[in-house]
Amino acid sequence: MSNADQESWSRVKERLRAEVGDDVYSSWFARMELEAIEDGAVRLSVPTRFLKSWIQSHYAEKVLACWQAQDAKVVRVELIVRSAVLRSALPKPKPELESASPRFPSVQANGRPPATGDAGVHEALGGSPLDARLTFESFVVGRSNTLAHAAAKQVAAAKRADPVMFNPLYIHAGVGLGKTHLLQAITWAGNAAGERKMLYLTAEKFMYGFVSALRTQTALAFKETLRGIGVLVIDDLQFLQGKSTQAEFCHTLNALIDAGRQVVIASDRPPSELESLDDRVRSRLAGGLVVEMGPLGEELRLEILKARVMAARTHHPSFDVPLPVLGYIAKTVTHNGRDLEGALNRLLAHNKLTGHAVTLEMAEREVRDLIRPQEPKRVKIEDIQRVVARQYNVSRSDLLSSRRTANVVRPRQVAMYLAKTLTLRSLPEIGRRFGGRDHTTVLHAVRKIEGLVGNDMALAEEIEILKRQLQE
Ligand code: ADP
Ligand code: MG
Repeated sequence: MSNADQESWSRVKERLRAEVGDDVYSSWFARMELEAIEDGAVRLSVPTRFLKSWIQSHYAEKVLACWQAQDAKVVRVELIVRSAVLRSALPKPKPELESASPRFPSVQANGRPPATGDAGVHEALGGSPLDARLTFESFVVGRSNTLAHAAAKQVAAAKRADPVMFNPLYIHAGVGLGKTHLLQAITWAGNAAGERKMLYLTAEKFMYGFVSALRTQTALAFKETLRGIGVLVIDDLQFLQGKSTQAEFCHTLNALIDAGRQVVIASDRPPSELESLDDRVRSRLAGGLVVEMGPLGEELRLEILKARVMAARTHHPSFDVPLPVLGYIAKTVTHNGRDLEGALNRLLAHNKLTGHAVTLEMAEREVRDLIRPQEPKRVKIEDIQRVVARQYNVSRSDLLSSRRTANVVRPRQVAMYLAKTLTLRSLPEIGRRFGGRDHTTVLHAVRKIEGLVGNDMALAEEIEILKRQLQE
């Protein structure tokens, strides 16, 4: 392949990144490579079948379009799965070992396997408790979590003998955006399928139970234990602390991945920002599929609320929340899924305790403190000058000029007044931005307008309208 081809490929990648955004790009395209260009056909490779099918079904046209924009001769893009040279060099998973452990086939009269004396160890190797409500059925898919959901589904549905598609699957998102929900959903679904042993651990459990249990075992027993795990799911990795715990984590991660076992991780930040972990671990974490879940959009919030009400009605059939109330909550309550749940719980409690139907008024009262504080929009002085000039039909340079005719003096004063009330700029700064005027001139303008709006309703209203335009 020529240098020119590689150069085109770099440009195409930049174009793709610009079009789909950094997150999507790094989730799906970061490991795509150019294999060949021949007769108008571009051959690209990706490391896994899943990536191939996902890109094919979601981005095939976009990829082609980006190529064509770079090189009009391209008519076709072909995707292939790169031969996994590295993976085949690592030990293959040995799923048969799980079923074939005929060493202690005996079962006691009580139906349990005989105690082996290290029951405490095995106890500690158990997972963290799961919440029965956090399943795929109750997980609502929207724009911000499509990728994460698709990947989670894929992991949960994989069969024991299937090659692992991406390892680890690393999901990151802010608080309350559904990480735990998705991880537990994977665990439930995997358990139900019964194909592989699922182990869900919070980072805390990993630190205080799992690791110490592992330490009490011999190296052989450690391997044996890991062999029993089909899928290791670790939640809130950012809480993993302590050098030795991290070393143990690294060891476990490597052993599982090398043995072809699936690892799923959630954290509140991307691998690159897990400062306490060393570089090798971070790059191993980043080497699978990293997916971010964005804030829950309003639509998604509404769908989640609807689903929640339906779920609540199985226990409280009379609980009814009118659509406008749900719309109000979806619009005003923060992006955090926990607050949505909290809001509904309050309505339910109120409804149960007082017997009053849920109304918009009641909702407004009940969820007041969960309402997202409206970020005051940062208004720029240029915007003020532009909007005011348009409103009064003068030019922006008129406002900055030294002209003193009445048709520019008043608008200029209004603009200065707005600059003082809507921005944090000081009087001298505002003066400078209005054609280098003195701060006393600005002060005079501000006082003048303040005095006028008290008596002049029309002016007061005009200013209100300008403010609203600027803050929208
Ligand atoms: P995180 O672990 O990211 O902090 P959780 O998974 O605990 O967040 O989610 C917080 C709450 O929001 C939970 O009650 C969860 O069920 C709900 N939630 C978040 N995202 C979704 C979603 N996409 N569909 C349904 N419920 C969701
Ligand atoms: Mg969580």
